[in-house]
Amino acid sequence: MGAAAAWFLGQRGHRVTVHEQFARGHDRGSSHGNARIFRLAYPDRTWVDTAVASFALWHDLQEASGRTLIDHVGGVDHGAPEHVGAIADALAAAGVRHERLQPDEAGERWPGMRFDGQVVVQPDAGTTDAAGTVAALLDLAEEHGVEIREHAPVDHVEVAGDGAIVHPRGGSGHHVDRVVVTAGAWAAGLLRGVVAAPPLEVTMEQPALFAPRRALDWPAFIHYGSGLDKVGGLDDPILGYGLPTPDGLVKLGEHHTGRRIDPDDPPVDHDPARLDRVRDYVATWFPGLDPDPVRVETCLYTTTPTTDFVVDRVGPVVVGAGFSGHGFKFVPWVGRELADLVEGATGRPGFGLAR
Ligand SMILES: Cc1cc2nc3c(=O)[nH]c(=O)nc-3n(C[C@H](O)[C@H](O)[C@H](O)COP(=O)(O)OP(=O)(O)OC[C@H]3O[C@@H](n4cnc5c(N)ncnc54)[C@H](O)[C@@H]3O)c2cc1C
Repeated sequence: MGAAAAWFLGQRGHRVTVHEQFARGHDRGSSHGNARIFRLAYPDRTWVDTAVASFALWHDLQEASGRTLIDHVGGVDHGAPEHVGAIADALAAAGVRHERLQPDEAGERWPGMRFDGQVVVQPDAGTTDAAGTVAALLDLAEEHGVEIREHAPVDHVEVAGDGAIVHPRGGSGHHVDRVVVTAGAWAAGLLRGVVAAPPLEVTMEQPALFAPRRALDWPAFIHYGSGLDKVGGLDDPILGYGLPTPDGLVKLGEHHTGRRIDPDDPPVDHDPARLDRVRDYVATWFPGLDPDPVRVETCLYTTTPTTDFVVDRVGPVVVGAGFSGHGFKFVPWVGRELADLVEGATGRPGFGLAR
């Protein structure tokens, strides 16, 4: 999100410095790895419209960087009618092309998977290259004169008159006109005492990568259970999600079931009990996959109580936080919003900080 904001601000001629506590491309936060789902399919019209707006900006980013960052393999939402039906209704209301299939029809199209309940297919969905996107954004930002400081942790920020002071760890503070805080899992600590952010819960999620038993086509997919089936802490009925990866595997995981962590704690190994649960899920629903994972990844969610994002400004402090495990598809949209906020725009309803 910070890299996207830097690109938009650099394009508009602002003098921008990006502070990153680790090296660019690190794997300690939320944006590493080679695959994230891009989808337009949400049960809520606002999110469908926002995803559609982001879709157009992904094209601009691909054009500007000369890189293919989205692979439109198509997306499938299936399972509990109360959720999948709401998605079809929201897509229809937004005029977004989609198709409803019977589970056996979907099984013919994607024989590596089993389908359940209602099935909605959205052809524009696909997979985004996460690490490639961050690299493209930082390269483009630098082309527009943005300075990227790596291994440069910020200790704290403070409001000072119409501007702010950024205090690097172990260094002296410097005055800036605007500060954009997009610190991911570390946001709560940096925002404390500066702006009133909603509670931000940090969890370590652990998707796993599985090998297809034979050459098969795979969509990006989300499987919805009804209220009783959910496995996560949040009232989020997603039983499982997944997508094909550029290296020929299928990434698959639970949503919001990770254990709460302090992002400054040293990285810990994955949880075998959770992995066993995903293994069983694969054995049940994915005849086309070997249920023994090739590898397990860890990655951090920073989740608000509603899973809505914070994209807002209070005085000189602009905030992009709480992307709740579904922010990547919105990266260029969030970047543009943050740049607009720096230039004085007001935040949109539904993305606000407490006042
Ligand atoms: C397992 C997993 C699967 C996901 N799947 C999807 C998906 O399929 N589709 C989708 O749309 N989204 C998905 N997401 C969500 C998406 O990846 C995130 O919403 C997005 O990457 C968040 O980006 P960010 O910039 O907020 O966080 P980050 O990329 O973590 O950026 C925050 C940066 O701030 C730096 N920082 C923090 N504190 C400081 C400091 N004090 N000084 C300097 N630097 C600092 C950190 O080092 C970090 O680089 C998934 C996330 C995970 C974890």
